[in-house]
Amino acid sequence: MRPDQLLYPAPEGLFCPIGGFYVDPVRPVERALVTHGHSDHARAGHGRVLATRQTLDIMRIRYGDGFAGSEQAVGFGEELTINSVRVQFHPAGHVLGSAQIAVEKDGLRIVVSGDYKRRPDPTCAAYVPVACDVFITEATFGLPVFHHPDPMDETEKLLASLRQFPERTHLIGAYALGKAQRVIRLLRDAGYSKPIYIHGALETLCGYYAGQGIVLGELLPATIESRDQSIFKGAVVVGPPSAFSDRWARRFYDPLPAFASGWMMVRQRAKQLGVELPLVISDHCDWPELTETISELKPGEVWVTHGREEALVRWCELQGIPAKPLHLIGYEDEGD
Ligand SMILES: [Zn+2]
Repeated sequence: MRPDQLLYPAPEGLFCPIGGFYVDPVRPVERALVTHGHSDHARAGHGRVLATRQTLDIMRIRYGDGFAGSEQAVGFGEELTINSVRVQFHPAGHVLGSAQIAVEKDGLRIVVSGDYKRRPDPTCAAYVPVACDVFITEATFGLPVFHHPDPMDETEKLLASLRQFPERTHLIGAYALGKAQRVIRLLRDAGYSKPIYIHGALETLCGYYAGQGIVLGELLPATIESRDQSIFKGAVVVGPPSAFSDRWARRFYDPLPAFASGWMMVRQRAKQLGVELPLVISDHCDWPELTETISELKPGEVWVTHGREEALVRWCELQGIPAKPLHLIGYEDEGD
């Protein structure tokens, strides 16, 4: 069997015609396998959804009870067969519940890695390399210029800023699923024990993470109406990036805008967003992680879903690994 008979890019997303399912479809379909809860991968409105328990919970939190016709939870490493296609989920190290999906038939195994990273992250299960014939990878940071620094060094920058500007409210923009909890956890691991104030949009997901055993310390609502503004002096406030253009953000005393994202490597972006303290903390692989993963897996073929596809495809070809871009549309990750 050729790999593209087992899985191919359709307008809705990667499609397995034998299994009759899509992986991370961007439009409502009858049967979807979902790698993780970010909104570009996990959409509402599918007939049936197969995902990890945590991803299903996260979808329910974000979309409500009717997010799918029916749901089925799968554990890491559990073997399932869907219309004679063997399916297994493995940890991807991206956000809580995130998985790579291995699709196998007649000895041919394709791994859809979804979004993944290799850096240690105590807020989710660590990436596991899965041997395969075809490895499907994203390439959000698929250019040699992208080297993400150690996230703990970035956290130290934030702590240094808090010492340097003890009066200013440090407002940290971080995506609601994954990044916000990771930033909070990094601060805790760096020894920051004061309460951290969170925007209302983060409350449910932070509560869910804490309920799953991810220690985030004391979190308090960052609702300025009900509180004396002076308590936010020198405090850390975490909110979704979208909240930073709101009136909400402007009410804090002398706010110091920070943003946690892999894109903060690009000075221009930080400047455009008015970010005073860029924190390069990414939930994606940087270039060395992407290329080291492919070197480690030694797949027969690499397919690149989206991002800086051409550079990674070229790199694979130089290593003697056939590769092709899939040009998948609709994955503008909310979590980089
Ligand atoms: Zn993602």
